[in-house]
Amino acid sequence: MCDYQFLDHIDGHVHVMKVSETSKLSKNLTEINSVQTGIVCQYENTVTNSNPAGFVMKSRDPGRFYILAGLEHSGLLFEAKNATPLLEQLHILHDIGVDGIKLIASKPTERKRLGVPLDSPYFSDFFKECENMGISLLWHVADPEEFWEPEKLPEWAQEKGWGYDDSYSTKEDLYDETLNVLRRHPSLQVVFPHFFFLSADLQRASKLLNEFPHVNLDLSPGIELFYNMSLKKEETKEFFCKFSDRILFGTDILGSHSVEEMKIRAGIVYRFLTEDKEFRVPERADFLIGKPGDGIIRGLQLPGGIVNSITMHNFHLIFGQLPRLLNVPAAREECLRLGRIESEVNSIPIKETEGHQAAEKLGKITIASPV
Ligand SMILES: [Zn+2]
Repeated sequence: MCDYQFLDHIDGHVHVMKVSETSKLSKNLTEINSVQTGIVCQYENTVTNSNPAGFVMKSRDPGRFYILAGLEHSGLLFEAKNATPLLEQLHILHDIGVDGIKLIASKPTERKRLGVPLDSPYFSDFFKECENMGISLLWHVADPEEFWEPEKLPEWAQEKGWGYDDSYSTKEDLYDETLNVLRRHPSLQVVFPHFFFLSADLQRASKLLNEFPHVNLDLSPGIELFYNMSLKKEETKEFFCKFSDRILFGTDILGSHSVEEMKIRAGIVYRFLTEDKEFRVPERADFLIGKPGDGIIRGLQLPGGIVNSITMHNFHLIFGQLPRLLNVPAAREECLRLGRIESEVNSIPIKETEGHQAAEKLGKITIASPV
């Protein structure tokens, strides 16, 4: 097991995919001192999204779990009967009491699958309304630069099908689409995970944060982030001190990870912030982190106040001191809508869908009241 300890923290970036993962995930997060957590739901490689599992988590521990809900694009992808336009989805999710929205439509695989630019009319009302309503986004844009260079692609990324040829958008095209949206909506509050994949170019990251005061960056691996930053420790430290109110702790933990894998992920991020040591990824990290031989991580040993901002306070500034209340009947209804889409597209009985399973669990809950 891991031989280091880390203190209470808020993890702004933890994934749940299945209703069956929720109790174990909740228990494991307690074990690693994640006192509040941003539960990220998304639609990557699925018919709809993993919001049903997210609602179940929030219903069990309303003061602790923030839901960053996914959208569903079944109208565009499958011409599903029960599909709902994005703007309507946003209103439904807000009424349910979600705390923000996760966007993955600018990850190259999903951008290709959807075939729709982020600065196109398909998304325009959605972004406008997020800005108007003050709904914060966790918005995955691009991927590590080496994913576009076959000879540099890490093994674990290859296995996931994350090497990009000419049929995918380029990293710069994805940035252009994103910046167009930010320029149209200057008050839009956004967290770009994985440091917006700019860890190798802190000058550019600095320009971005200066130009857009409502943009923030999270530290969830992308393990390359820590290797890139470790190559220029002093510059990184200066950056973290200057933008200490714009950086958030995150791990990209998955509900399927073991508690040891979770500890390793959280430990890497925490040690990078707090220790003045060189270290490598532990042997038993999950495979998406890569191997110990891949590189050296050099801890920044930031002052306590800055660590506190990054690991606790900044998340509250963006997503609120407490999670919003879950409107259980509305959440249940949305789970059933998602279940109907999954049933229709995959030709399976509705009872077998995630949406239906979540609705059943939510049907037993009466504690939370409407927002
Ligand atoms: Zn993630």
